Amino acid sequence: MIGITVLGSTGSIGVSTLDVISRHPDIYKIVALTANRNAERLFEQCQKFQPEFAVLVDKSAAKTFSALLKESSLKTILLTGVTALEEVAELSQVDYVMAAIVGAAGLLPTLAAARAGKRILLANKEALVMSGKIFLDEVKKHNAELLPIDSEHNAIFQCMPDDFSEGLVEKGVTKILLTASGGPFRDLPLEQLADVTPEQACAHPNWEMGRKISVDSATMMNKGLEVIEACWLFNTSHDLIQVVLHPQSVVHSMVQYSDGSVLAQLGNPDMRTPIAHSLAWPERMSSGVEPLDLFEIARLDFQKADFTRFPCLRLAYQAIEQGGTAPAILNAANEIAVESFLNNKLSFNKIAEVIEATLDASDISRADNLDDILVADSMARKKSLELIGLH
Ligand code: NAD
Ligand code: MG
Repeated sequence: MIGITVLGSTGSIGVSTLDVISRHPDIYKIVALTANRNAERLFEQCQKFQPEFAVLVDKSAAKTFSALLKESSLKTILLTGVTALEEVAELSQVDYVMAAIVGAAGLLPTLAAARAGKRILLANKEALVMSGKIFLDEVKKHNAELLPIDSEHNAIFQCMPDDFSEGLVEKGVTKILLTASGGPFRDLPLEQLADVTPEQACAHPNWEMGRKISVDSATMMNKGLEVIEACWLFNTSHDLIQVVLHPQSVVHSMVQYSDGSVLAQLGNPDMRTPIAHSLAWPERMSSGVEPLDLFEIARLDFQKADFTRFPCLRLAYQAIEQGGTAPAILNAANEIAVESFLNNKLSFNKIAEVIEATLDASDISRADNLDDILVADSMARKKSLELIGLH
């Protein structure tokens, strides 16, 4: 049996992961499940999957869970606090770690999984955006495996030659075509962007996701973070990555080769496909996803992405070009701006302004070690809060 820890099991990716795993009980065993504060959902998941450990970061949620545990016959051991996330990522009985915590909070536990040499199923793109080379060095040093869950990166991985780590250009790859739906405001008149609500921003046309990534999809910062993620995962420069608007979200991304071939991965927009792919890789297994019906889809559209409508995309390209701590600062400022928007403290069209102003006010330095990253992250959060007026 393959032992699995799911970091962020109560979220959108976590729930899809457990759905796929429940279809293959003879192969996978859940060792640990973790959540921030949703005690009830975590408890339900524990009843179903009987893990050895459950982690709740929030202390008062842990009390609720503890009371539920006492009334049941469940043998799961409850751990609490942030360091417990790292502990359950490192356990010797764990083979695979699903990294599905949202945002910078996922960085340390995902790094712990890398240091313990696990197969990492990486949904938490923010961790890689922040720490890039440091993260990949740990993966290499400890013989860990890194498989992308983000649907675009999973698609690119499937379209890449086997030995792509030896260099994309040498292997005949000329371009990565990263598709993007354009989110709910793709065609909204620009002057109306100031008035959109969190509910409108979270109503994604094709995917059901957590609130933070839904807002990121609406601003297209999600695609910006994905450009940076792709640079690290495929060891390439941002110049080789072109964003392509594709409203149907059926082509999940493409790889173009020097002979004119373009390989694409297609499928219904359902995260259980990349999750099942990365769990079973290099084999294949069923995921519960409906087969693609091309006759029903009938047409596929492609357009250029517009930096005026989506300034966050421009900021992300600039940050990866600058390098060093710039991507970590971009990410931190984005997390603060998105949270403020979700709490009705910042209007939608100001999200990019806050991020740009934070980057302008920050010293970009080298990112040689984890401390450089963590310091840049916390200073950028402070600056963004000051800019929003919430300090
Ligand atoms: P979500 O908000 O639905 O779930 C987040 C999970 O992380 C929850 O289990 C929550 O309890 C946990 N969490 C939140 N804050 C935490 C903290 N401070 N400490 C510990 N745990 C914490 O988010 P999601 O949509 O599942 O996204 C998770 C990650 O996957 C994100 O990085 C996102 O960018 C990435 N991703 C998601 C999708 C998708 O379809 N949802 C697609 C591609 C990539
Ligand atoms: Mg994606």
